[in-house]
Amino acid sequence: MIGWALTLLVPSAAWALAHAVASPTAARPPFAVCGAAGFLAPAALLRWCGRPFPEQLLGWVVSVVAWAGAFVIRDGQVFVAFGLVGAVWGLALGLKSLRVTAPLSPREGKPKPQFTPTSERRREPEKAGFSVELRCPTCGAALAVPVYHRMARCEFCASVHVVSGGSDTLVVVIPDAVKDEASLKAAVAKHLGHLHYLKLYDQRVRPLIPESGFEADETGQGLAMPAQRRTPALVNAVEAEVARAAEAFAARIAPRLALRAWRRFLSPYWHRFGTLYQAAFGRDDQDLKRMEFAVATIEGSVAASGAPLPAMGKLSYLRALRPLQGAPEAAIPALPVEVGAEEIDRRVQQLGRRSVELPVKAIAIHATLVPEVVALVYRPWHLADVELDGERFELLVDGGAAAVEGEAPEFDFASRPLDDLQGEAPALVPSRCPECGADLPFAPDAEAHLCRNCYRLVTMRGSRWRTLPYLHEEPEEGHWLVPFWRFPLRLRTATGELIVDLPHLTDGIDGTFDQIGDRPQVQQDLLVPAFRTRVSKAGVRLYRILWPLVQGRAREFARERLSPARPPKRVVDMTLSAAEARVFAGVYLALAFSHRDLARAQVKNVRERFLLGALEGEPAPVYLSLSQEVIGPFAGLFGRARVAALADLEGRSPGHV
Ligand SMILES: [Zn+2]
Ligand SMILES: [Zn+2]
Repeated sequence: MIGWALTLLVPSAAWALAHAVASPTAARPPFAVCGAAGFLAPAALLRWCGRPFPEQLLGWVVSVVAWAGAFVIRDGQVFVAFGLVGAVWGLALGLKSLRVTAPLSPREGKPKPQFTPTSERRREPEKAGFSVELRCPTCGAALAVPVYHRMARCEFCASVHVVSGGSDTLVVVIPDAVKDEASLKAAVAKHLGHLHYLKLYDQRVRPLIPESGFEADETGQGLAMPAQRRTPALVNAVEAEVARAAEAFAARIAPRLALRAWRRFLSPYWHRFGTLYQAAFGRDDQDLKRMEFAVATIEGSVAASGAPLPAMGKLSYLRALRPLQGAPEAAIPALPVEVGAEEIDRRVQQLGRRSVELPVKAIAIHATLVPEVVALVYRPWHLADVELDGERFELLVDGGAAAVEGEAPEFDFASRPLDDLQGEAPALVPSRCPECGADLPFAPDAEAHLCRNCYRLVTMRGSRWRTLPYLHEEPEEGHWLVPFWRFPLRLRTATGELIVDLPHLTDGIDGTFDQIGDRPQVQQDLLVPAFRTRVSKAGVRLYRILWPLVQGRAREFARERLSPARPPKRVVDMTLSAAEARVFAGVYLALAFSHRDLARAQVKNVRERFLLGALEGEPAPVYLSLSQEVIGPFAGLFGRARVAALADLEGRSPGHV
């Protein structure tokens, strides 16, 4: 009887003892100790190492048989045989611990916990840009309008509106999702639950995951096998159990969290959104000199305060930002703006000197960013001093995501009330022609709208409508009307010379007029596309096709409005402003140069006469009638390019922008 009692007592007591003293952070025993402990009390060892319960139970059964050999049937061979089973088990665990604690270099493809830390979660969205929350004037609903859109359709009442007003610098705030003590505590509990999850994951899930590449190389196939026998199903099951345990942990501690102190503040970030125009002189893959250009839409942000806070990252993970004026967040004190937005320009300029998108090996590049949106974005933060069962946590909580960012930096976040709120918020106004009252066609990117009822060209300047006079060709049957800006060609070179005649620019680029001789300059016009294209390379292809059609022949323009009696088949929206078209013209002129012009061109001359030249003179909008065959295949190309984050283009992590 005593034999039986001892047989059951020894492994059970050891198991219970291990359960009582094991802590999640306990280190694994050394390799030899694993063997000895496996021999004597495998269940205890398994518990100590945080193995799943069924495994521990099996260890206990093995151990009971071994001790029964010693105490009940008194057969040393049984004791040793089953003890050795436990010992081998223990040694296998010890090996695993050797492997886990060995200093490994991080390897690609290493399995990651399901939960991702806050900072990683925030980097996920691919889309850049952000939306601003504006009220629908018809039904009052809050609409998320992409910041570069000029029109919006209400998703609730289907009314269509034009974005009006708004100051040069848009002042917006990320809505604070941490509104009260309960939501702050919930964020903290979630964070502590996540830390708990990571701990459990390292203990229970990671040891189950085969790390075959390492083992096969370092210790041979034999050792890789036991690890690989663990099925993914087991890994998934344990991981799910760990996630449940972490959730339960977070729920358990939530009521015990005590908030000792809580401070909220806003921190400012500069945000820029615009188009980068690049022109380059270089050699193509056949070593011929060429002039090329590329157009890219980019955005970037930098912190406007010197406080040690995380970078902005991408803003598109939020539904919409609010104009600060009138937002509830305007009452939160803010850190002062200490840094200008020039840092973004500097980095864009740096980026612009690289020829990422250009199909030439560049000898000289000139790049200009036309900012479209300059925004000061305020981001809500919370400093939370929290106590859990006597342990204190000082945490920085991101109000936008309602998630703990990390430990609170040791810094005096001196904030003060935002009393002089600068910047006028944009608003939505009904999308009706100011002249005839007809509904304007829906074109969110449109810079100016051609009313399809009265054929006036109208545009919103600030918060007022303006009617623009325009020229046009008579639309031929089946033709499209395509908008251009007609500039008088007045290119001021870096040396102050004025070029008004295109061949004087192109033939003269190599320093001699060997093609045109001493023919005097004749004032010419330059027709610059007044529409954007979604893809730079396809866009350049279209511009190249259009160049000889548009530039190479004299065209007759009518001054009076188009007649509603002869409507064009289709009208391409005007999506490029006159100011931006002036910059675009500087790179678009690259199309004028032939191989012959450039064959003997030297970089100094190219720089002075072209890359650094500036187009003077006032442009006027004109509509050209172009055939369906030419323009039709490019119908899907009109519109705005996908926005790229500056950080991505720089090849850095978005977290740094
Ligand atoms: Zn509405
Ligand atoms: Zn009208």
